[in-house]
Amino acid sequence: MDSVSFPYDAPVSQTLFDRASLVTPGGVNSPVRAFRAVGGTPRFMVSGTGPYLTDADGREYVDLVCSWGPMILGHSHPAVIEAVQAAVARGTSFGTPGEGEVALAEEIVARVEPVEQVRLVSSGTEATMSAIRLARGFTGRSKIIKFAGCYHGHVDALLAAAGSGVATFGLPDTPGVTGAQAGDTIVLPYNDLEAVHAAFHANAGEIACVISEASPGNMGVVPPRPGFNEGLRAACAQNGALYISDEVMTGFRTSKAGWYGVDGVTPDLMTFGKVMGGGFPAAAFGGRKDVMAHLAPAGPVYQAGTLSGNPVATAAGLAQLRLLDDAAYEKVNALSTEIQALVTDALAKEGVAHRVQTASNMFSVFFTATEVRNYEDAKKQEAFRFNAFFHSMLSQGVYLPPSAFESWFVSTAHDERAIERIAAALPAAARAAAEATA
Ligand code: PLP
Repeated sequence: MDSVSFPYDAPVSQTLFDRASLVTPGGVNSPVRAFRAVGGTPRFMVSGTGPYLTDADGREYVDLVCSWGPMILGHSHPAVIEAVQAAVARGTSFGTPGEGEVALAEEIVARVEPVEQVRLVSSGTEATMSAIRLARGFTGRSKIIKFAGCYHGHVDALLAAAGSGVATFGLPDTPGVTGAQAGDTIVLPYNDLEAVHAAFHANAGEIACVISEASPGNMGVVPPRPGFNEGLRAACAQNGALYISDEVMTGFRTSKAGWYGVDGVTPDLMTFGKVMGGGFPAAAFGGRKDVMAHLAPAGPVYQAGTLSGNPVATAAGLAQLRLLDDAAYEKVNALSTEIQALVTDALAKEGVAHRVQTASNMFSVFFTATEVRNYEDAKKQEAFRFNAFFHSMLSQGVYLPPSAFESWFVSTAHDERAIERIAAALPAAARAAAEATA
């Protein structure tokens, strides 16, 4: 990071960060936001419109984070804002069932064939935590398989060798998770079916489920190799375990039916978040009806939430999903392809070894010459080049994820001006990446 310079050009953000650091650990409410991996002052944003964010210093950025995925229509989409305003005017939380949550559940069930029933929650973490509990309750088994570099939220049992912030900060595991909580978690290398078969063999009759990101985006974008997800499904079916596909990131982003719409592999349970909340805290887990029937109050596996199915969040999510038709995905896919090509051109011109890896419209740039198939490969990239690249883009008004281990996200709102700004910023950023030293 020594070679990275970050001009002190965000005095209001810096003042806010100083204030925040006094009252909040590390000054942020979610670790990656703190810019620790890339250094410099995290930008405090005050507003967002379409593909643009404006920070507290009044600077505008083209946003390629999109709130880590949810804002697939861009910021402040008029239809979403209108739905939210109408919902707020009717009241913000009732603690009773409401029609909005039925409509959102119906929309999810209609889009994603393997989901026969769905339960709404408030975060992706809750969704994966509840899905694991349900899988254990349904099978009467304890052990679970997850993959190194996959992130499923900050569920205790799932923080072993996790991606996202855990990868960004190079944390092997996290204090506070007890041996008992992590002891039933088997961590395997991603994209390695032989390891999965060996684990089932060594733990015969003990594995409740395999959980995997449908197409991982939390160690950077590392798509499943052909046949990998199908192999997970088959291994689970053969061994009486459930296959949980975590679509919190890919769900309703990579296609109308998420990654399921891309590879067609049928899981037993699925988890969702991000896009389905339209920028509000809404998430879900769902799947086979006979499995979901084990959930309280229909069955014995307990799960609940004061704000689950919140009327404002469900109104936002429903408004967003209803606008996400085939044309919307075509548009965001095309924009993503255009941006990927610009990045590749700029880096190639400067002779910077890199790989752009994609999963539909999700993509990330690895500073390495070789294919990234798993977390070990991802860690071998020259992340210091990303840091220089990131700060150059930021100083030119393009906001990238502040970590080399994250997906970039595009929206349908990325207009010509936004693309032009990205194109104009890339040559200098590529040069900065080329000149960076470890
Ligand atoms: N699962 C995946 C694949 C994710 O990417 C995330 C968050 O990034 C989560 C689960 C956790 O979701 P949340 O941050 O809403 O708790």
